[in-house]
Amino acid sequence: MNAPASMIRLTTQRQIILEELSKVTSHPTASELYDMVRKRLPRIGLGTVYRNLELMAESGMILKIEVGGTQKRFDATTDEHYHIRCSVCGRVDDIDVPVVKELVAQAKESSAYMIQGHHVEFTGICSDCQKKQH
Ligand SMILES: [Zn+2]
Ligand SMILES: [Zn+2]
Repeated sequence: MNAPASMIRLTTQRQIILEELSKVTSHPTASELYDMVRKRLPRIGLGTVYRNLELMAESGMILKIEVGGTQKRFDATTDEHYHIRCSVCGRVDDIDVPVVKELVAQAKESSAYMIQGHHVEFTGICSDCQKKQH
C-alpha cells in the first residue's frame, strides 16, 4: 500500500473514524467522536483518535474547524462551506449560503498576503434554545 507523500494511509481506525464522522452533521469534537468510535473499537484511546483526526485534517481528508475559540471540531464535509454556531449551547451547524469567492479576490487586491482562503462564522440562537427561552 504505497500512497503519495501528501496522502495518509486509510487504516481501519481512520476508516471507522471517517465513517462515524460522515454519519453526523453535528461537527463533533475529538472526545465526542471518541465516544462514537469506541462503540466499534472498544480498545481505542482518546489520544489515538485525536492524533488520527489531526493527521486526517492535515491531509485534507476531513475538515478541522475552530469556531468561537471553543474546542476544535471535525467535519467530514470538505467542500468549502460556512458554519453557524449557537451562542447559547455551542452547537455548530452548516449554513446553506453561497461561499463568497469574490471576498478572496478582493482580499488579494488589498493585501500583500498570499491569500489561502477565508472563514466565515455566523452566530445565533438555535431553534432548540429559542424554544427554551419561552
Ligand atoms: Zn442552542
Ligand atoms: Zn460543516
